Amino acid sequence: MRQLSCKEVQRIIPDFLGEGLRGHDIVRFVEHIKSCPSCKEELSIQYLSSEGISHLETGTSFNLEKELTGYMDRALKYRQRKLQRRAALVIYETLALLIITVIFLYTGG
Ligand SMILES: [Zn+2]
Repeated sequence: MRQLSCKEVQRIIPDFLGEGLRGHDIVRFVEHIKSCPSCKEELSIQYLSSEGISHLETGTSFNLEKELTGYMDRALKYRQRKLQRRAALVIYETLALLIITVIFLYTGG
């Protein structure tokens, strides 16, 4: 899996925050952020400007590090759930096809 460059990561930060990233990119994005302080800082700034303001307005306390980690974890978990659903769907489709084939063989043969 090709690593994303800092330039690519910083370009797609708005997509990540807007939940517009594709599953494959989410994993690469989060991996890069976890190992790159400068991109993490950039993400923090953009996250703060999009999410933090609503916290300031409501007056609730805001732990940026915790919020960001939580956000990235949720994005990864969402991606995993989607993959699991897709895998389940493939299994069901295969089973359905198998059943149809069996029925066809029994009734047609
Ligand atoms: Zn970077």
